[in-house]
Amino acid sequence: MQCHLGERYCHQCPSAQPVIVHFNSWLQKVVILLDSKAQQTELEWISYPPSGWEEISGLDENYTPIRTYQVCQVMEPNQNNWLRTSWIEKGDAQRIFVELKFTLRDCNSLPGVVGTCKETFNLYYQETDSEVGRNIRENQYVKIDTIAADESFTQGDLGERKMKLNTEVRIIGPLSRRGFYLAFQDVGACIALVSVKVYYKKCWSIIENLATFPDTVTGSEFSSLVEVEGMCVSDAEEEADNSPKMHCSAEGEWLVPIGKCICKAGFHQKGDACEPCGRGFYKSSSQDLQCSRCPAHSYNDREGSWRCDCEDGYYRGLSDPPSVACTRPPSAPQNLVYNINQTTVSLEWSPPADTGGRNDVTYRIMCRRCSWEPEECVPCGGNVGYSPQQAGLVDTYVSVVDLLAHANYTFEVEAVNGVSDLSRTQRLFAAVSIATSQATPSQVSEVIKERVQQRSIQLSWQEPEQPNGVITEYEIKYYEKDQKDRIYSTVKSRSTSATVNNLKPSTAYVFQIRAFTAAGYGTYGPRLEVTTKEEASGTTATIVSSEQNPVIIIAVVAVAGTIILVFMVFGFIIGRRHCGYSKADQEGDEELYFQFKFPGTKTYIDPETYEDPNRAVHQFAKELDASCIKIERVIGAGEFGEVCSGRMKLPGKRDMSVAIKTLKVGYSEKQRRDFLCEASIMGQFDHPNVVHLEGVVTRGKPVMIVIEYMENGSLDAFLRKHDGQFTVIQLVGMLRGIAAGMRYLSDMGYVHRDLAARNVLVNSNLVCKVSDFGLSRVIDDDPEAVYTTTGGKIPVRWTAMEAIQYRKFTSASDVWSYGIVMWEVMSYGERPYWDMSNQDVIKAIEEGYRLPAPMDCPPGLHQLMLDCWQKDRADRPKFDQIVGILDKMIRNPNTLKTPVGTCTRPISPLLDQSTPDFTTFRSVGEWLEAIKMERYRDNFTAAGYSSLDSVARMSIEDVMSLGISLVGHQKKIMSSIQTMRAQMLHLHGTGIQV
Ligand code: AMP
Repeated sequence: MQCHLGERYCHQCPSAQPVIVHFNSWLQKVVILLDSKAQQTELEWISYPPSGWEEISGLDENYTPIRTYQVCQVMEPNQNNWLRTSWIEKGDAQRIFVELKFTLRDCNSLPGVVGTCKETFNLYYQETDSEVGRNIRENQYVKIDTIAADESFTQGDLGERKMKLNTEVRIIGPLSRRGFYLAFQDVGACIALVSVKVYYKKCWSIIENLATFPDTVTGSEFSSLVEVEGMCVSDAEEEADNSPKMHCSAEGEWLVPIGKCICKAGFHQKGDACEPCGRGFYKSSSQDLQCSRCPAHSYNDREGSWRCDCEDGYYRGLSDPPSVACTRPPSAPQNLVYNINQTTVSLEWSPPADTGGRNDVTYRIMCRRCSWEPEECVPCGGNVGYSPQQAGLVDTYVSVVDLLAHANYTFEVEAVNGVSDLSRTQRLFAAVSIATSQATPSQVSEVIKERVQQRSIQLSWQEPEQPNGVITEYEIKYYEKDQKDRIYSTVKSRSTSATVNNLKPSTAYVFQIRAFTAAGYGTYGPRLEVTTKEEASGTTATIVSSEQNPVIIIAVVAVAGTIILVFMVFGFIIGRRHCGYSKADQEGDEELYFQFKFPGTKTYIDPETYEDPNRAVHQFAKELDASCIKIERVIGAGEFGEVCSGRMKLPGKRDMSVAIKTLKVGYSEKQRRDFLCEASIMGQFDHPNVVHLEGVVTRGKPVMIVIEYMENGSLDAFLRKHDGQFTVIQLVGMLRGIAAGMRYLSDMGYVHRDLAARNVLVNSNLVCKVSDFGLSRVIDDDPEAVYTTTGGKIPVRWTAMEAIQYRKFTSASDVWSYGIVMWEVMSYGERPYWDMSNQDVIKAIEEGYRLPAPMDCPPGLHQLMLDCWQKDRADRPKFDQIVGILDKMIRNPNTLKTPVGTCTRPISPLLDQSTPDFTTFRSVGEWLEAIKMERYRDNFTAAGYSSLDSVARMSIEDVMSLGISLVGHQKKIMSSIQTMRAQMLHLHGTGIQV
């Protein structure tokens, strides 16, 4: 049966019996099983006896033709007239409603019927599975009720007769057979059965909460509720743990809805149905109510999608919900810089320009160790440590520790995000190739006391974990505990045990051991305290053993002073024999008198101490075959000839770029010696921040010095060319490299004397290397060098006071020069002391003036410069300390932040030099020229900044809006504007200084 709510009648289902559905008086749809009024032909119910009930056609109250059954045997007693309906198939009904409409005459209105006339009749039913015969067997009927009339035919007030129609409804059930008959028993009344209607009630199929509830027959009892499970409409699903249910009441009403269905992912609710999301929309979960538009970088071109597909090159991370935009792997990290400290490499970089649209960027490091020849790289493996870790780095730095000394490494820093592993595009990373230098051995940490005597102690220990070379000997330092280490002695051993003799009985001694390789001494291990045994009475005095092999006693306190004396005298003698000029002591006189160099320690040897300078060259420099070298182009002019770039291909080695210094034709023997002197010096050095000598060609012409090629040339020119283009971290990275190179040189006992940015070279990885080691260079080569009153030529602006005044060149004076290099670097190659004359510089320095901080220089860096320019050289930091300070800054980049506009500087003559007096400028053009930003003149004019007053009011946003995109330039201009503003305020008497 196809029924639709609101229709009065349902159509017949193909296989079911004819059923009529209509609304009952409460507008409820019911299933009609029998309706006598609806039948147009004779009912042909069975009437027994035949004289009883009679089928008569008539009209109902609306004058519609109807079939009625009447009986009116009121005159005769003992009436028992039965009328049986046709068989009624009950279908799935359990509870049947019987509605009777009848008229009944009251006995009073009939004369002479007293005693025989009745005013009721009885209603019966009989259940059967099929039709039975036409005989009526009374005892097979079950009585439903005695029906009496509420109204009856009666005399109206005016004597007319009125027909009063009675309606009675009775309910039967539960029924168990397939069908039933109804029977009416008349016992002597005058009745007309106008209508008999038999029906049952159903809860009709509905859709509620996106669930379909089927037609449901009501329960058999009045109070019963039939629980019905709903079926989700198509493209809907049950809500979790909340399946849809309703209850069908006995009255055919749906009650108590529980649970619900919801539209599946990809569909949304429209009325009582789920419709697919349109193109370009998605719904990821049934829990979402609405379809949403595809997020950025995603699309879909079909309906009913639960998510959108990512555009080419974009991805969705495994844990990304469909609602977030598709993203892509980040670009490579930027500005990768590194520092090497023996076998530790610190890498530092800036975040990638493009994070791929995600904020989960981390970094991972790929370390590979490469053999020199042929170049083959293998992953570094587990022996290398990473701090804080190798992958998943959140911060933009890492230290790689425990690398092998003297090895070639390649580091790749890759920025990764949540979609990197999904992408099949090529990995983007920043890479550097680094060669670790020689490294000293790590600490001897496990020392065991083997035998303790009254006057001797025998110790043994383990080789350090990282020997970083062949350990040739160990040094055992020891002192009486009470003396602290003010006075100590050392003993050497070639094996991992030693007996220290000559000790005092009952005395506590402290021992520390360090290992020695070709790279020098490692650091001392932890202190071990051992007390010698008490002196047994009668024991003879000190036993001094001279047979301590393999232990060699090198020094004891008593003889230390003598040895120092010998060294000083020796140093004096060789100091007299320098080439070209008299070098000051290579040892700083502030050094402890115990720190003399032991045989084997790498120490710089002045080539001039060689009788035959040629021998010196070949001692320290490799003789190269001229045919291996190809000169390509001239890149500079040296003192002795041209400096060229070219290629070198040694047999069995790979071809490499080199710089070639040539000795011009027609040289004198002295010129040749001086020219090669640089190679003799450079050849002694092996440090990543000191320019590396490849070799020399002395047996052919031209005579050549072949050096590693530094692609970016000298540092001063390089910085001027890239004014404002580096981050502070990058600049500090460069400074750190120079300091590390200088630390190495000073550890070797070499004093540079001409450290300046022009004498530092930069390679393609921004690694800075100290260069220019010619012995006579300070006199002839350096255009900055001028004659001073003390004789000799000196590059005044870079040179410490004591060196200018009385030629006291030491590592401490190199530190002064290093401070000037710091200033040059931070000001992108500005000339120290600008255009002040050398005389004015000397005067200003003597009066205590120092260079002010360059623009945007972090205060910590300027402080370090000022420390390098301490008048008393003992107060200046050592290169080792400088490296440490810079390392700390690099590790904590926050310390390098320059708070814009908060920097206060004293107004001093030197400051006046660094900060032009804005009140003297007449135009914006003049001002731009003074700060070397005249290239932006048109930008200012076009934007209407025609007066300095208007410029002084500019904000950083204003500056950026001019189209000045280089951050360094923005900062430079902004910093100058702030100073200008301050000077204007100062001029107007506010006293504010910037
Ligand atoms: P020098 O005689 O050492 O002062 O060198 C003169 C110029 O040649 C320097 O200022 C550099 O520009 C260039 N130069 C010297 N050595 C190298 C090198 N190893 N790599 C690249 N350029 C170099």
